[in-house]
This record gives sequence, structure tokens and C-alpha cells, in this order.
Amino acid sequence: MKIEVISTNLEDVKADSVVIQLFEGAEAPEIALTLPESIRKEIAPSIEIGGFKAKLGQVLPIYPKSVNMARCFMLLGLGNKQELSLEAVRQAHGYAALKAEEMGSKSMAIPIPNLPPYTAPEITASVLEALSLAFYRFNKYRSKVEDSKHPELIRLVVDFDVRVMCDTAAHEATIVSEAVKLARDIANMPSSDLPPKRMAEMAAEVGRISGFSTKVLEMEELERMGMGGIVSVGKGSSNPPVLIVMEYDGGGETYAVIGKGVVFDSGGISIKPSEKMEEMKYDKSGAAAVIALMKAVAELKLPVRLIGIVPAVENLPSGRALKPGDIVRFRNGKTAEIISTDAEGRLILADALAYASEMRPKAIIDLATLTGACVIALGTHASGLFSNSDELANALINSGERVGERLWRLPLWKEYFEQIKSEVADMKNVGGRPAGAITAAAFLMNFIDNHIPWAHIDIAGTAWTQESSPEKSYIPRGATGIGVRLLADFLKSEVKRG
Ligand SMILES: [Zn+2]
Repeated sequence: MKIEVISTNLEDVKADSVVIQLFEGAEAPEIALTLPESIRKEIAPSIEIGGFKAKLGQVLPIYPKSVNMARCFMLLGLGNKQELSLEAVRQAHGYAALKAEEMGSKSMAIPIPNLPPYTAPEITASVLEALSLAFYRFNKYRSKVEDSKHPELIRLVVDFDVRVMCDTAAHEATIVSEAVKLARDIANMPSSDLPPKRMAEMAAEVGRISGFSTKVLEMEELERMGMGGIVSVGKGSSNPPVLIVMEYDGGGETYAVIGKGVVFDSGGISIKPSEKMEEMKYDKSGAAAVIALMKAVAELKLPVRLIGIVPAVENLPSGRALKPGDIVRFRNGKTAEIISTDAEGRLILADALAYASEMRPKAIIDLATLTGACVIALGTHASGLFSNSDELANALINSGERVGERLWRLPLWKEYFEQIKSEVADMKNVGGRPAGAITAAAFLMNFIDNHIPWAHIDIAGTAWTQESSPEKSYIPRGATGIGVRLLADFLKSEVKRG
């Protein structure tokens, strides 16, 4: 897909489909941009007839009489003007993209309307993300793939005075969207083709192309380093665990991001019910996001030092597997009694968090499909956020609003820590059903240095589309690639704040 950012009169733009954005109005829809009289005349009857209300994502293709114009004008509803957000812009343009694909448009022109308080570069980035992500398909394993019909050329039409800024925004949005697609690919892949070691090789391949280094710690090394959590969860599988440590050095402050990489979670000896167990290949979504984030940040050449840490394991039952009642000792010397081997994510994250703390970064953020309890609390509409720092939590929440990956903060009051007290070890790995998402976060908090701002993001409800979740225009079924745009935005705003 080729992207062009141009400044020209909309009448002169050559494209199969030209998008015209409109808002819902009390009487009739209101055109969201300044249009040349000739185009206005062509589309006026379709608006006046009344069938098209400009509801968010509503698309009406109309074919102009004048042969000198675009083949098709695609009226696109942005919904209610008062409720406009960058996410609404993304949703709407995602539907326009799908319509263009359905109609077989080879090229598409999209004017970037002036929509305060948002800037033209922000709108440009949102439109491009929506297009790029709406066309994503996971086709690797199909023997026959229908010829892709999505537009090959996208022309974004912007005002002359913002053209250079919009061009930069488009370039950056393309980098980030490509990274999101990589995250979707990794999470969508079956575990048989992505055991821990293969995931490490993949990270190294991405790093070689995009510009970050990768170090892989294997079983012996992990044992020597006291990473009892990763070792004990991984030892049940014939595919041994690894710790993937990626580093991009663009100068500036150090940030550490950690992604849970359980390539498949059967639950281990505390085996899960078989229904929907196939979805447990998505238990590597945190890892997918971290590898993809490394790619995005390196290609954006952000002036930060970013450490990406992925504990990668396969949680299977076997004669060597971790058992309930076992006691595990972690990197920082603390111990935990195992109640359920299905609460394995926190065990591997514990070592990774302790390891990250030793590097004294400015902040540590972990992404994990950690608890079903988080899905019960927030459904599929927000990821759970837990933090020891109000400042970090608020910065992440703001990024989430901007990119349409909402976060909702849950408390970490000390009373919750009572629930994970053990009779025989420093703690136990589950604290019962009440507040299960919070007691998981409380467990993790034992492994960070409390002087370092830390945030844990539970993406169990948002990492893949579940049966109950409505399909969004630019998020097709399967892995969503959540966390990449969120953390890229967060790091960009950290750089801006200085
Ligand atoms: Zn589990």
C-alpha cells in the first residue's frame, strides 16, 4: 500500500474512491470539511433524501454524473460532533477502508478535515492506522488466499501549510501500524510453530532488520541466575523456556517493558477445561506486543533506551511439570507456594520484574494476559492498570485515550496482600476468587524495587477478540495487537515532556 500526502484541490484528485466526511445533524448531516461547489452539488441530493444519517462508521457510496470527477464519492459518517474523538476517526475510516476493499477500489483519496481540538497530523495518523490495520488478515496458513483487493494507493489530501507535518505523521503511523501487525502475527501463530526458542530467534531477526540487539538466556543460564519462576513453569514442556532480552539504545532515559510469553497455556497440572483451550495460544500476546514495540521504537529512532524483556515458556503437564504444593524461589530470593499451576504468568513475570529492577530504569511496564478475573471486571472494553506511581498511571491512561486502547486503574491497597499470604513460603501464587486481578498484581509487586515507578497492564480481555466482543472496523477477529500503539505513544510523550 503506497501512501501519498498531497496538497491540492479535491476536484483535481485522481482516485477510484474519494471519502467525504460528515457529522450527524439535527436536520441533515453536516459536511465536516470545506468542499468545492462542484462536489457539493453532486453529493447534495444524496444527503437531502434522508437515508444517510452520518452515524459513526456509516458509509454511502455515490457515483457522480460528471465524468471529470472521482469514480465514487464515499460519504462517511463521523457520528455526533460533540462526541468526536481520535478513536471515532479511526473507527469511521476503518469502515471506509473495508467498503473500498469490498468495492474493489484500487486507489482511495481521503481529505484530512480540520477537527479541533485535534491537529491535522493527529487526524492523519489516526486515519492511516485505521486503514493499515483494517486490511490486516492472518493468512499464513491458508493454502488458497483470495487475491487481496484492498487499495494499493492512498492519497491523503491536506492543507498546504501542514503538509510536511502530516507527511511525518503518516510515516510514523505506518511504522507503528506495521509493528501492530507483527504483534498480531506473533499472537495469532500456533504454539507448535512458535516455541520459546523460535520466538527468541524471531525477535533476533526483527532486531537485526529494525536496529535492536537481542540476548537469549537458556535453561542452564536461567538456573544459574536463580530464575526459579521461569525454570519451574517451563520445565514441564519438551520445548525449554528462554528469557529474551532486547535492547535499543537511542540515548536518553532507560525504560523497561516486559511481556508475558506463554506460547501455550494448558494450565499445567492444574489443567484447564478443554472448551476454548485453543485460545490459550494468545497467552503470548504480551510478548508479541513487546517485540513489536521494540521494532516500532527502533524504527522511529526515539531518543530513549528501551529494554524489552520476554520470559517465554510453554505451560504443559508432564512427569517433569511444576505441581501444586511445590515451592519456587525467584531471582530476588523470595519464595512462593504453588496453589495452582495455571497461575503461571505471575511466576515468570516475577523473575523478569526482579531482573528489570536490577537495571534501575526510569520506569518498568509489564503487559500480560494475566487473569480471567480482569475480564470479569472490565470485559473487553478496557485493560486493567495497576501501578505504584500516580504519575506513570496517569501518563499511560492519557496515552490509552489517545490511541483508543483504554486503561482502567484498579487499587493495590495493602489489605489485598493478606489474601496471598502462605503458611509455608513468603507468599502463595493465588489468593482465591475475590479480586483475582488485583491479587495477581499484588503478587507481582513483590518483585519490583518500590522506588522504581512500575505499571502492570492486564490485557486478558483485550488481547484478542472474544465471542462477546463487538468487531471493530480496524480490529478483525483474532489477536488485536494491543499495547504496541499504547506504549509507542507513551514513550513518544515521555520524550516530548523531557
Ligand atoms: Zn495459566
